[in-house]
Amino acid sequence: MGGTTEFFEIETTASQESFDISDRVKDVVARSGIARGLCQVIVLHSTCAIVLNETADPNIGKDVLRALGEVFPERDDWLHNLKDDNAASHLRASVLGPSEVIPIVDGELLLGKWQEVWLFEFDGPRARRVAVHLVEG
Ligand code: ZN
Repeated sequence: MGGTTEFFEIETTASQESFDISDRVKDVVARSGIARGLCQVIVLHSTCAIVLNETADPNIGKDVLRALGEVFPERDDWLHNLKDDNAASHLRASVLGPSEVIPIVDGELLLGKWQEVWLFEFDGPRARRVAVHLVEG
């Protein structure tokens, strides 16, 4: 089975924010020449997440951040804060998850009209590494 793995970096600029990384992912798929297969997008950090959702309205990303902040607020008594003081960031990233798998059909990502690829930052600003792993077949 053929395939490839490529990496790129996103320089986040705030403690919490969302980035549309669709064009970066689509570029890797286009250059691969793979007509049919699977594309896994994974962020290689424990306080970031990858999500498929609508980016045409950037307020959706802000709403996601707000909702996660309400569900997992900053608290002094999270156990991980004894070690690293960013427990809420880990919790928010954990529920969204670090990766998504998207089918490749006819050389393009199979996404709905309103689906794009978001990267969520929960503990920035930092340089974040993303892998795009393509499997042909
Ligand atoms: Zn930590």
